[in-house]
Amino acid sequence: MAEYLASIYGTEKDKVNCSFYFKIGACRHGERCSRKHVKPTFSQTILIANMYKNPAHEQLYTMPPEQLQEDFDMFYEDVFTELASFGEVEEMIVCDNIGDHLVGNVYCQFRYEEAAGKAVESLNNRFYAGRPLYAELSPVTDFREACCRQHEVAECNRGGFCNFMHLRHPTRSLKRELMDAQRASIREKEREERHRRREERGEEDEDYHRSRRSSSRRRDDDRYRDSDRHRRHRYDEY
Ligand SMILES: [Zn+2]
Ligand SMILES: [Zn+2]
Repeated sequence: MAEYLASIYGTEKDKVNCSFYFKIGACRHGERCSRKHVKPTFSQTILIANMYKNPAHEQLYTMPPEQLQEDFDMFYEDVFTELASFGEVEEMIVCDNIGDHLVGNVYCQFRYEEAAGKAVESLNNRFYAGRPLYAELSPVTDFREACCRQHEVAECNRGGFCNFMHLRHPTRSLKRELMDAQRASIREKEREERHRRREERGEEDEDYHRSRRSSSRRRDDDRYRDSDRHRRHRYDEY
């Protein structure tokens, strides 16, 4: 029996636990749902609810698609950079849905649970673009399960009110650059750490000095620096 219950946990057959909350981290019934939303105590994934204000949903005039993409890319970079400061980001996604429980949701899967915990704690005391942020640990483990299959291959007939995720994608090159910058910054931190340990042991570290010289040349086009500029503009505006 216990085995059976474990096998149906969070699926449609499970009459106790809500499959939408379990798979997507948000359900249209919210707190009034007749099934349980079991909030995880530890998770690699966080949800920042309703964070992206899509200009296409907000404004009366229609923003040209290129400008919309530019606006979104700036948002994506801003948020990714902030999240990466808590620890290694494996994936960050943004919902394009319109329904209240999914609109503007940002999900981030970290490599380590510890980073997710730190991010939630810090973000809940922050503002972004003049609005307070609300973040929580999310039960979502697999974004593929959470995404709408129809929307991925063609038009979904439920449109923006679909209860599965419809993603908004950043420009591909931007995502690659952010991932590369993150990898470079992790490598640099590891190098610093190795160096510190060697110094403690009183050893010479010629490798370290050589790499310092080349990385200071690279630093001019470091994306993390660029993003500091945006961040100053958007975070913590009351
Ligand atoms: Zn529910
Ligand atoms: Zn859909």
